[in-house]
Amino acid sequence: MIDPFGRAVTYLRVSVTDRCDFRCSYCMSEHMTFLPKKDLLTLEELERLCSAFVAKGVRKIRLTGGEPLVRKNIMFLVRALGRKVDAGELDELTITTNGSQLARYAEELHDCGVRRINVSLDTLDPDKFRAITRWGDLAKVMEGIDAAQKAGLRIKLNAVALKDFNEAEIPELLRFAHGRGMDLTVIETMPMGEIEEDRTDRYLPLSKLRADLERQFTLTDIGYRTGGPARYVQVAETGGRLGFITPLTHNFCERCNRVRLTCTGTLYMCLGQNDAADLRLPLRASDDDALLFSAIDEAITRKPKGHDFIIDREHNRPAVARHMSVTGG
Ligand code: SAM
Ligand code: SF4
Repeated sequence: MIDPFGRAVTYLRVSVTDRCDFRCSYCMSEHMTFLPKKDLLTLEELERLCSAFVAKGVRKIRLTGGEPLVRKNIMFLVRALGRKVDAGELDELTITTNGSQLARYAEELHDCGVRRINVSLDTLDPDKFRAITRWGDLAKVMEGIDAAQKAGLRIKLNAVALKDFNEAEIPELLRFAHGRGMDLTVIETMPMGEIEEDRTDRYLPLSKLRADLERQFTLTDIGYRTGGPARYVQVAETGGRLGFITPLTHNFCERCNRVRLTCTGTLYMCLGQNDAADLRLPLRASDDDALLFSAIDEAITRKPKGHDFIIDREHNRPAVARHMSVTGG
């Protein structure tokens, strides 16, 4: 799959549910309206869609959400996709999780062929953790991280950098992550979906965070890549890697290799644009994949050049109405 700008699409992110057991304040509003259950694809249908993408050249799949581990029977899909890794059809199967259910699933994930996971963790303070996630329990996430490392899963921590919330705590998060052999990636807050607060109040440009960190740490740019949008530095003092995901201050779309599938079978060719393709109709119209393949081909011809995220006082409306939990992070 080659898009109009010559980029090969080899990475599929699948939001297996838009539901979640947390309500992170930058991601969701407290009282969310979720997609109607009747519109959900079954796990068998999601597997068939993933297989079609693998047949078309996808080499890496990430399961995300919402919280992927709250979808009922999700291990059925993980196991099915893990078999593709075993068969050499996929290079990597991975998952992004809030960690709340990890203690329960860590061993099984490893058993299914998952080797690396992303865990989202914005603070190490239990009270602040409860405040930012509204419903989360830090102790459970910590148990999950312990269980995942014990099971042999490599972990990357993701933290959304938020002004006057965790800005001053990033050095501590960095030491914690690197002390436990985990990479850390920091992310700029993206204007997706209505939330209770004004994102401008919390927006922290990572160029500023980097300059602040450089007063305490020696950061050296390195070419390390994981197939995602992060650009990495090596931190001399801790011996670990720190990634920066900068959708606002530095657009990374020129290297975009991914598309995003939702749990209702809608394909978004860009996280930050509204254009989408419905794959549920061709999926259900026939048992043969021909219709599906041509719908996917047509969608790829519409992959846009990039997103146009802006956050400032004049642009304090979401760039897209849907929340990150629909298309997955
Ligand atoms: N529930 C899982 C989790 O939290 O890891 C997976 C889905 S979550 C939408 C994926 C990532 O997106 C998380 O790291 C989260 O912090 C991040 N995220 C959510 N809303 C965001 C926003 N508006 N801007 C930037 N990152 C966001
Ligand atoms: Fe749930 Fe992840 Fe969104 Fe937090 S960031 S509300 S854990 S989907």
